[in-house]
Amino acid sequence: MKLQSRSKPYFIPEYSLTGDLLSFLTCNLQYRYQNKGSLPPSMPIQLWFGEFIHGVMEEAYLKWEAEQLPFPWDWETEIRPIEEMIDQRLRASGLYPPLKQYNPKHLPEEEIGKYKTEDNPYHRIASARAEASINVWGPDLFPLIDSAELLIKGIRDMPNYNENHSRSNHYSVNGIIDVLSSFKIENTNQKTLDSYQNKIIQYLKHNEKFNEILKEKVDNEYEIIIDYKGMKRPSIDNDNYRHHEWQILTYSWLRKHQKDAKPIPAGIIFYLNELVPSVEDLKAIQEDIINDKTDVKISEEDKEAIMRWDGNPKYYPTLSNKFKIDRSIRIIPVEEEKEETALNEFDSVVNNIESSMIKEKEGSKISEAWIDEADKRTCDACDFKAICDKNKGKLNHMTVP
Ligand code: SF4
Repeated sequence: MKLQSRSKPYFIPEYSLTGDLLSFLTCNLQYRYQNKGSLPPSMPIQLWFGEFIHGVMEEAYLKWEAEQLPFPWDWETEIRPIEEMIDQRLRASGLYPPLKQYNPKHLPEEEIGKYKTEDNPYHRIASARAEASINVWGPDLFPLIDSAELLIKGIRDMPNYNENHSRSNHYSVNGIIDVLSSFKIENTNQKTLDSYQNKIIQYLKHNEKFNEILKEKVDNEYEIIIDYKGMKRPSIDNDNYRHHEWQILTYSWLRKHQKDAKPIPAGIIFYLNELVPSVEDLKAIQEDIINDKTDVKISEEDKEAIMRWDGNPKYYPTLSNKFKIDRSIRIIPVEEEKEETALNEFDSVVNNIESSMIKEKEGSKISEAWIDEADKRTCDACDFKAICDKNKGKLNHMTVP
């Protein structure tokens, strides 16, 4: 009797938007080393703060839901315990805080109330940002939250599928929506919320495109996808600016395919570093204003303050809260044509990743299969520059992060 050979297990490669796609677009080779190799980055500052602020906002929401604690929250008694919990959680997964940004020592109980926040040795920039994020956005955001950390998944055709080379005829797209919020169009008595006082609703109402999209919707209820970013608002010509729009559009496509979904006219990204910008962030904001690369209006007073500043970290320009808050919220209307473009771009990046993998599998050297292209800032902070062809021979001229 002839024994039949076992058929190959059916396999669908999984791609996450932030973990794979955006990371691959930052630098193909760095993505290869980080995700397909076994070398974790030693001190990924951006990654640490992103994870930290996501964890802090999530825990703050749970605390608010359980205790209904009024805002503003005191940093030492209410926020610091959340920070310490998130720090411990991140350590358990191998992520250690950059000490210039965060003091990991336990705040001793007998010291509580002794320092003012400004000269508190435990209150470094990551803590200042956590405090501002909770107290500036928490009062308006938390009452709007329907679900947090919502997993979304979808299946797409593998681009350029080839029976002999491709790993599968489909691929899976997944992502996690930080916050999903549902609204009524006549938003009068939603969750005892006064829509005229809610900053987020006011920002949405002032967005022309959002209102246009809303007029076409027949349903009374709609959803808004919300994502936190532990970074500065990107300049309008920066790739991240486009990629963040793309992220919202892809998430909206994925969400639409879930059973309980409602129409999604927009997404919101919170750039939480804008609430407490660093010296580097301020210099970048100054450049954006000079080169007209920002989408946020600035008042004459704020413009004068920031343009007068000579970059000296000892004399921080005083900017209005309105300016910082305006810069920290970005409304991204969900237009169907744009959604299609975003998905096509997603396919094309998956195609590039798959092609690089196949090349490597078929014997090409890593540096030939994956392209080493990144901007100077990314290379300066990259853990793999010592082994990267792009930087060979340049190491002694580079800044060690
Ligand atoms: S040094 Fe630059 S080009 Fe090389 S892997 Fe790192 S980010 Fe990419």
